[in-house]
Amino acid sequence: MNDMMERLRHSSISGLTRPLTWRLEQLKQLKLMLTDHENDFLKVLEHDLGKSKAEGWLTELGYLNSDIDYTCKHLAKWMRGKRVSQPLMAWPGKSYLHPEPLGVVLIIGAWNYPLQLLLSPLVAALAAGNCAVVKPSELAPRTAELIAKLLPDYLANEAVQVVTGGAEVAQELLAQRFDHIMYTGGGRVGRIVMEAAAKHLTPVTLELGGKSPAVVLDDADIKTAARRIAWGKWLNAGQTCIAPDYVLVAENQREALIAALKEAVEDFYGSDPSDADDYGRIVNEQHWQRLVNYLDDGTIVHGGDYDREHCFLAPTILTNVAPDSPVMAEEIFGPILPILSIPNLASAIEFIRERDKPLALYGFSASTRSLQQITEQTHAGNQCNNDTLMFMLNPELPFGGVGPSGMGRYHGKFGFDTFSHQKAVMQRPFWFDPKFRYPPYTSFKQKL
Ligand code: NAD
Repeated sequence: MNDMMERLRHSSISGLTRPLTWRLEQLKQLKLMLTDHENDFLKVLEHDLGKSKAEGWLTELGYLNSDIDYTCKHLAKWMRGKRVSQPLMAWPGKSYLHPEPLGVVLIIGAWNYPLQLLLSPLVAALAAGNCAVVKPSELAPRTAELIAKLLPDYLANEAVQVVTGGAEVAQELLAQRFDHIMYTGGGRVGRIVMEAAAKHLTPVTLELGGKSPAVVLDDADIKTAARRIAWGKWLNAGQTCIAPDYVLVAENQREALIAALKEAVEDFYGSDPSDADDYGRIVNEQHWQRLVNYLDDGTIVHGGDYDREHCFLAPTILTNVAPDSPVMAEEIFGPILPILSIPNLASAIEFIRERDKPLALYGFSASTRSLQQITEQTHAGNQCNNDTLMFMLNPELPFGGVGPSGMGRYHGKFGFDTFSHQKAVMQRPFWFDPKFRYPPYTSFKQKL
């Protein structure tokens, strides 16, 4: 590991990664790897998470292709930096921000979108001209193996390295001095990462999770809201950091919403989701057991079927859930959706504000005023109104949490900025050098 770090640091100092042409070349190579091995990637995703090919394409490969295209299109402009005004006292001269690479960065990925969550930060890190070490999650082992096999064939080895392994390997990496660490995963490990980074004063971006609420008000289009909630919740069998974790629904719409959610589940996955091509599996037995335990925390009004051997857990709707039960105290990160009634918007806002700031927040209402009230009176990393997850498709919006759901952000230019230092530069000519700024400071000058 020490040798690897030394080589990467040498490449970073040598200036290899700075030219626009080098950065574009690496990004194109990354895209080529995804294109050449599209089927191999879809297969390992299916193996690790039961992801259907369509879902694997939509949320991982297709997403990364657009990410790379968008970055390549705008990179020259981002690298140009930004001219700012010059104050009169420092005239003549010019001031500008010059984005420079941070150096050698570490990217630690999570298992639920094992390709996207590792390679999208890498796109940003390479675009910003960094060397990088990427560590895929050991909980999606086939995907990690394939990344480790292919990346060295496509990217400059002196600038990008893959390190595979579990917690011990991650800790060994964290003991090294990096110039930035981006970690995606749960808050428990997020704290470990931050503590290790503090030893070297390394800045961190933490992409964490939390309980993302969906609020459905009585004026919402219930059928459409249900379909969109169902899609966001049961994609990847609920193992999505921004999936709606629970629903707060107006009392008088509760039954209608439950009926519409059931209809949506049937439409998407048929009457037996264990047989549906497009319904995923829980990543491992430990997570499966954790989720099955939550089934005792309420009344199952839909789903609830499970099968240990295949780590299957059906799309499940729970009612009669106590706000302080385990399923409401911890991030679910699986296909169980608790539905809680609320008397009005104010109580929904209060419910959300009493809890940790979530990663995502979803409001469903026909009233722009009510949606605005949710925006203005709650905290969340991201908010999407009258839909779920779709904000991820806009690279002009930053993605990241706030408080316990994370710190820092990426996507599009925000990712480039995360992995750059905006060096503040002022440049002055020699030809104008009046004496009044220099000592001795006479009383006349002091009056100035
Ligand atoms: P995980 O188990 O895959 O762990 C993430 C990474 O941390 C892995 O690479 C793993 O090797 C490493 N790790 C594990 N233990 C460690 C230790 N002791 N020291 C150092 N590194 C260690 O992922 P997870 O934590 O199960 O992921 C689920 C969580 O991640 C959920 O809370 C989810 O909301 C969150 N998440 C957030 C995002 C986001 O973009 N904000 C995306 C996906 C998942």
